[in-house]
Amino acid sequence: MSKVVLGGGLGGLAAAHYLTKKAATQTLTLIESSSRTGGWIKTNLQENGTVFEQGPRTIRPRGEAGSNTLELVEELNLTDQIVPLVSSHPAAQNRMIYANGSLHLLPSSLFGLFKKQEPFTRPLVLHLLNDLKAKKKSVQDESIYEFVDRRFGREVADYLISPLICGICAGNAQEISVKFLMRKLFEYEQQYGSISKGMVQNFSLKSKKATALNGLVLKAKKEKWNIYSFISGCETLPLALKESILKNNVNLKLNSECTSMTIGQNNVTLHLSNKEVITADYLISAIPARNLGMLLQKQYPDLAHSLLNLVKNVSVAVVNLEFKNDLIINSAFGLLVAPKEELPVLGVIYDSCCFPKENGGTVLTVMMGGYWFEKYFGKNPSEKTLLDVALNQVKQILSIHDIPVKSKVNILHHCLPQYVVGHDDHLNEINNYIKTHQLPISLCGSSYYGVGINDVIMSAKSAVNKLIFR
Ligand SMILES: Cc1cc2nc3c(=O)[nH]c(=O)nc-3n(C[C@H](O)[C@H](O)[C@H](O)COP(=O)(O)OP(=O)(O)OC[C@H]3O[C@@H](n4cnc5c(N)ncnc54)[C@H](O)[C@@H]3O)c2cc1C
Repeated sequence: MSKVVLGGGLGGLAAAHYLTKKAATQTLTLIESSSRTGGWIKTNLQENGTVFEQGPRTIRPRGEAGSNTLELVEELNLTDQIVPLVSSHPAAQNRMIYANGSLHLLPSSLFGLFKKQEPFTRPLVLHLLNDLKAKKKSVQDESIYEFVDRRFGREVADYLISPLICGICAGNAQEISVKFLMRKLFEYEQQYGSISKGMVQNFSLKSKKATALNGLVLKAKKEKWNIYSFISGCETLPLALKESILKNNVNLKLNSECTSMTIGQNNVTLHLSNKEVITADYLISAIPARNLGMLLQKQYPDLAHSLLNLVKNVSVAVVNLEFKNDLIINSAFGLLVAPKEELPVLGVIYDSCCFPKENGGTVLTVMMGGYWFEKYFGKNPSEKTLLDVALNQVKQILSIHDIPVKSKVNILHHCLPQYVVGHDDHLNEINNYIKTHQLPISLCGSSYYGVGINDVIMSAKSAVNKLIFR
């Protein structure tokens, strides 16, 4: 029995890890086109100990998927590497929005909902109460922006949801599917007529379901972790996964791009850029849907068409900055910019507020572009241009005029998937095709079931379970 996992990002590494646990005797190959594993997760540790994250920087411990990641972290013996941010910390409570030319603190308590706080022209609670009056609209799916505008009003759509979507996937809320990204809220309206009614119903159901917690999941709950990372940054996780799969004799092939693929009823043949040919009886694909679509165009044009059109990935410029002095006046997780401002910046993360350095100083990450990358930067901006733009934005928004002691610019081309309206249906079509044609493949990774680290790991676990129960 031989299996192959295609793609050595977090999804592929997690799939290989779960496969070695389920069936230790099989031959397992992991194929990755680049010279390293980890995909978008990359930590640049500076000589002075500063952590510059190029991709993800924090993980949420909550929910089923959050618990699953914590279990994995524990299994990989990474517990003592964790740095948590607890809920009472200002960086966990405070989130800023840049709108109408200035910075505003979002309400973080029940009391805050009753106060009129800019950029909103009335207390947020009144917007929320709007949901009780708003008529139900029966739809298959719609954009998050339209949904929120209908139920809570334009200001919530512009100043809360649109910046939030920039923070989640660097996307345009007017295109992202509410059914996919805020499934519960969407279902509440469809099922109960309003979100508030749905929440009340769900609360009574939820309080009946108590699950036993233990290990790191219990510790995170008891200590009220809001988010966490690792002492040496997020890349700690894929590095530990790599070590674990190598120990379990997974055949890891780096610098090996899959350039073509043939799928039979009971086997899959992959042709690699180094001329090697790999045949296996099952494939877990952990590469972006678009890349898989291109590989299947000749043999399965319908499936390839669905895969190619499932998600469009947007590019992000990530600029890490370190300043000698403490320059952040109000501690917070960071700020998000309302797209209405028409600025090239999506948001700024206050890394040194979340995880302060021993000897002080300020570390920030400026995220730019996303859905609007080409509009602001064209196709191929230079690192110097991006650094200048980032510094100007930091000056304008945060009044930071200092010159950074360290900086790093990375352009992440096509890094974040956009789950546009209809994503759920397209995903079902793809899964039905694979099932009906009994193809020996399953899919995981950020193109399909969510962009967060937790979602990607969960998708890898499900892909492995599909194979086991085949
Ligand atoms: C800037 C940024 C910030 C983020 N912040 C957070 C955060 O704070 N918290 C959080 O939870 N999540 C965050 N995320 C999301 C998370 O990091 C990603 O969703 C996740 O890492 C994606 O993993 P993946 O394995 O699905 O994909 P990838 O990382 O894209 O891995 C796919 C791999 O497949 C390989 N590949 C592609 N085609 C082929 C081929 N033909 N042959 C062989 N190999 C191939 C690629 O080289 C790559 O290594 C962030 C993402 C980005 C980009």
